[in-house]
Amino acid sequence: MKSGRIIKVSGPLVVAEGMEDANVYDVVEVSDKKLIGEIIEMRGDEASIQVYEETTGIGPGDVVTSTGFPLSVELGPGLIEQMFDGIQRPLEILRQEGGDFLQRGAEVKHLNRQKKWDFKPVAKVGDEVSEGDVLGTVQETPVVVHKIMVPIGLKGKLIDIKEGQFTVEDTVAIIENEKGKRELNMIQRWPVRQGRRYKKKIDPKTPLVTGQRVIDTFFPITKGGTAAIPGPFGSGKTVVQHQLAKWADAQIVVYVGCGERGNEMTDVLMEFPELIDAHTGESIMKRTVLIANTSNMPVAAREASIYTGITISEYYRDMGYSVAMMADSTSRWAEALREMSGRLEEMPGDEGYPAYLASRVADFYERAGRVICLGSDEREGALSVIGAVSPPGGDISEPVTQSTLRIVKIFWKLDYDLSYRRHFPAINWMDSYSLYQDKMDKYFDENVNEDFSKNRKRAMGLLQEETSLQEIVRLVGRDSLSDQDQLKLEVTKSIREDFLQQNAFHDIDTYCSTQKQFKMLETILEFYDEALAALDKGAYISEIEDLPVREKISRMKVITEDNLDEFENLKEEVRNDLRKLVEGGGTINA
Ligand code: ADP
Ligand code: MG
Repeated sequence: MKSGRIIKVSGPLVVAEGMEDANVYDVVEVSDKKLIGEIIEMRGDEASIQVYEETTGIGPGDVVTSTGFPLSVELGPGLIEQMFDGIQRPLEILRQEGGDFLQRGAEVKHLNRQKKWDFKPVAKVGDEVSEGDVLGTVQETPVVVHKIMVPIGLKGKLIDIKEGQFTVEDTVAIIENEKGKRELNMIQRWPVRQGRRYKKKIDPKTPLVTGQRVIDTFFPITKGGTAAIPGPFGSGKTVVQHQLAKWADAQIVVYVGCGERGNEMTDVLMEFPELIDAHTGESIMKRTVLIANTSNMPVAAREASIYTGITISEYYRDMGYSVAMMADSTSRWAEALREMSGRLEEMPGDEGYPAYLASRVADFYERAGRVICLGSDEREGALSVIGAVSPPGGDISEPVTQSTLRIVKIFWKLDYDLSYRRHFPAINWMDSYSLYQDKMDKYFDENVNEDFSKNRKRAMGLLQEETSLQEIVRLVGRDSLSDQDQLKLEVTKSIREDFLQQNAFHDIDTYCSTQKQFKMLETILEFYDEALAALDKGAYISEIEDLPVREKISRMKVITEDNLDEFENLKEEVRNDLRKLVEGGGTINA
C-alpha cells in the first residue's frame, strides 16, 4: 500500500496527506519509528490519525503507512493472567524490552508465541462445522478451559484435527469449503470497535453475586447486566470495582484500569496475584485479564483500552462463560474522546465533549448482555459491564454521567458525604437503583429465603422514613418523637451501620454470602419486631437502647460463613433479652 507523508503533528493527533488508499479505522505505522496509530477521520487524501504512543520527535515529512486492517485484538490461549496495555501489548514484555519506559513502536506480539498448549479435540474429522462451534479445548489455567472455536464467518467440513502440544500459531484443524482448504490455528483476530456476533440476546435471569451487601440485597446486578458507579474523587469507586473483581461470581474477569492515580494500577498488579478466589481456591489472576493505562500513557491508548477490554470479554462470553468487565474510570475514556475531538476541531457539544459522546457510550454498554452464543450447542454466555464514572466535583448532571445513566440498568451512586463520614461502601441508598430488582427479588426468594425480598423492602421502607424523622429531630429534638419513632431511628441506624456498611479491608467482612446477608437483615428486623412488642407491653425505649444484645448485633458482620448457625443463637438472645424487659418475661406472643 502507498505511503503518505505527515503534514501536521498536534500532540497525539497526526495528519498525513497522500493517504487516498486508506480507510477510516485503519491501523497505520507512523514514521520509521513505526508508532502505532489509527485513522479516525478521512478528508480527501488527508487522514487524521490518533497515535497510541508518544509523538515527540515526529514531524512533517515523516512517512505514514496503512496496514489496511482495523485496530484488532488477538484472541486465543494466553490472555488470562496477562496484563496488557490499551492496545493489547503485554506490559511485561514491553518492560523487558524497553526498560522501565514503554518502548515506542515496539513490535511485540500480543499472545505468547513460544508457549505450548495441550489441545484436546472435541470435533471429529468429517463434521460439518460453522462459526462458534467448538473444535477443541485447552486448559488455559487451572480454572479456565479455553474453547477453540470456529472463527466467526467460517464454515465447512472438518478434514483434519490435531491432538497434543501446540503453540498458538501451529495448525490444529483444517476446514474445507467451496473456497478451498483453510488451516486454523488457535488465534482469532477481531476488530475492537465492532461487537462480536451472537445468536440472540436474552433477558438476564440470575444475579451476579458480589458478596457486597448493599449491592446484592439492595441494588443487585445480573449476569449480563450493566451498572454505573459515579462518584467524586475518594468516594470509593476503585474499591467497589476491586471488590467486584475479587468477589463477584463471574467465571472470567476483565479489569480495565484507566489510571486515575499514578500508582493505582501498580497496586492492582501487586495485590491481585496474592488474592485467593473463594470459589476456586486459586489466585484470582487465574481467571483475570488486566488492561492497564497508567497516567503517563498517551490519551489515545486509554480510548482504545475500553474496546480492547470489551472485545476480550466478548470472546470469553462466546465460549459460554459468565464474564464481568470493570472499567475504571470511563470518564478518562470520554476525556480522551474530547481531547481528540478538540484537536480535530469538531463542533463541540456539552462541556466540550463531542456530540457523538452519548452514542459512543451507548454502543459500548450495548455490548453487554446475556446471549445465546454462536455454535450449534446453543450455549449461553453473559457479559456484565460495570463502569466507574468520575464526574468533576461529583456533579452527576455532567454529560458523561448522564449519557451513561441513560443506558445502564443499575446506578450505584457514591456520595461524598457518606465517604466523609466513613460510611463505606458509600453507595447512597436513597438515590441508587437497580432496574433488575423485581426479577432478582424472585430469584433470591426462591434461592436464598422466601422472605428475602420482603425483608429488603421493609428495610428500605424504614430507611425512607428515617429521612423525614431525622428532619423532625433536627427541628424539634429527639425527645419529641414517640417511643416507636425513636425505636425506628435506632433500627435504621442499625441497618446502616450493622448491615450496609461493609469494610473491604476486613478479612471476614470483605465478602458476605447472600445467606449471611439475609440472616443479618433478618436479625435486625427480628430485633425491631420484638422491641416494638416490648414497647407495647410497657418497656422503656431507654432500656431497649441499652440492651447488651445490641452490641452483639453490631458484631454479627464477623460471624464466619461456616458458622451461620450463630445467627439462630443471636436471634434467640434478641427474643430473650427483649421479653425479659417486660413483666413476666416470655409472654409476648411469638
Ligand atoms: P475513588 O476511586 O472514588 O477515588 P477509592 O476507591 O480510591 O476512591 O477509595 C478511597 C478510599 O476510601 C480508600 O482508599 C479507602 O480508604 C476508602 N474506602 C472506600 N471503600 C471502602 C470500603 N468498602 N471499605 C473500607 N474503606 C473504603
Ligand atoms: Mg479511583
